[in-house]
Amino acid sequence: MAPPHDGKTAAVFEEESTPERRISSVLFVIAMQTEASPLVDKFRLIEEAESVFPEGFPWVRYYGKYKDLNINIVCPGKDKALGVDSVGTVPASLLTYASVQTLRPDIIINAGTSGGFKAKGASIGDVFVASHVAFHDRRNPLPKRDIYCIGTRQAFSTPNLVKELNLKVGKLSTGNSLDMSPQDAAGIISNDATVKDMEGAAVAYVTDLLKVPTIFLKAVTDIVDGDKPTPEEFLLNLATVSAALDRAATQVVDFINGKSLSDL
Ligand code: SAH
Repeated sequence: MAPPHDGKTAAVFEEESTPERRISSVLFVIAMQTEASPLVDKFRLIEEAESVFPEGFPWVRYYGKYKDLNINIVCPGKDKALGVDSVGTVPASLLTYASVQTLRPDIIINAGTSGGFKAKGASIGDVFVASHVAFHDRRNPLPKRDIYCIGTRQAFSTPNLVKELNLKVGKLSTGNSLDMSPQDAAGIISNDATVKDMEGAAVAYVTDLLKVPTIFLKAVTDIVDGDKPTPEEFLLNLATVSAALDRAATQVVDFINGKSLSDL
């Protein structure tokens, strides 16, 4: 039988995959540079000089060692024509796939900002861990295709982590728009979501295929069912909420350090 990945023997591979082994490598997938920067500073990461990604791609990787962990942060970078962050599901899923294939992390944290629903208990600056992720902007009424489109997936369960760090838990709904059409709103309600973003369910699609445990850490920049227009509220709160996200992400990494998957 051909040896699995990297020519490792089956025994070694099995040992490395066991949930009892200490986590050694954490990969952050972060859509926006503003969200990533405080964490890059906190973990004292450096930007790689020679990209592991294909030539000409805008994707950015920061790496380094923090405590006992190898940390990588990847961002989809700036759109080549427009110079704005490459947010949304398509860059997020491609970047996640390529990063897992190259970096082989033990665990992924998709960290970022999100819209929150006050009717479900969200406030500006809250940091949520998603229990489930799903899409709200993919529709097909045909049997089974409807369920395929919604694409609900359970996040990696971290009961000890959320208890210890006192993090809020809620469902995350993903779509490719910052605004919310009436049809999106119906999808979000049916997904029972507390927070809404533009990447989570796309990252989950990939990490489910690749079997990499994934935590979704989402900080609330704007209240979707409030009275302020989302783009203004988002921009107003982006810097301070990114700092809150940074604090929570650091606590999560400190908690993970020295532990195995089954401890989380
Ligand atoms: N003007 C911004 C646009 C970013 S889009 C720019 O400079 O590029 C919003 C980003 O924040 C996405 O990555 C998304 O995941 C997250 N986000 C924050 N609030 C959101 C909301 N209300 N709906 C959807 N995504 C939101």
